[in-house]
Amino acid sequence: MADCVFCKIISGEIKADFLYKDDLVACFKDIKPAAPVHFLVAPVRHIPTPAEITDQDREIISRMFEAAGKVAERLGAAQSGYRMVVNIGPDAGQEVPHIHIHILGGRKFGWPPG
Ligand code: AMP
Ligand code: ZN
Repeated sequence: MADCVFCKIISGEIKADFLYKDDLVACFKDIKPAAPVHFLVAPVRHIPTPAEITDQDREIISRMFEAAGKVAERLGAAQSGYRMVVNIGPDAGQEVPHIHIHILGGRKFGWPPG
């Protein structure tokens, strides 16, 4: 999608610190980290919210979780634990309308989130 910052990152038009990329998903560091480990997992395909996920996207969704887990492990966040967050819509504070999982680790997190 022309005006989407994550589509531009994935296509290489905007620089990012990539941790993983394949034909379906990309992992890159969040530009404003909220924890010692903070990266994002996004599909290569522009999917704005879960409402736009189709049957054809099943492989993408499973690949996102798989990539998240493997990169978290590689960054040393897996043993102590980490949090996955998906913000959807205005109440959750979704800034980028291209679905993505935040992976946050390296510190303790409170519950419920603010
Ligand atoms: P959300 O509020 O869930 O949509 O999260 C969007 C996230 O994208 C925020 O944590 C931003 O810091 C992050 N972000 C925005 N632009 C960039 C960028 N160019 N490179 C890396 N992360 C970004
Ligand atoms: Zn996009």
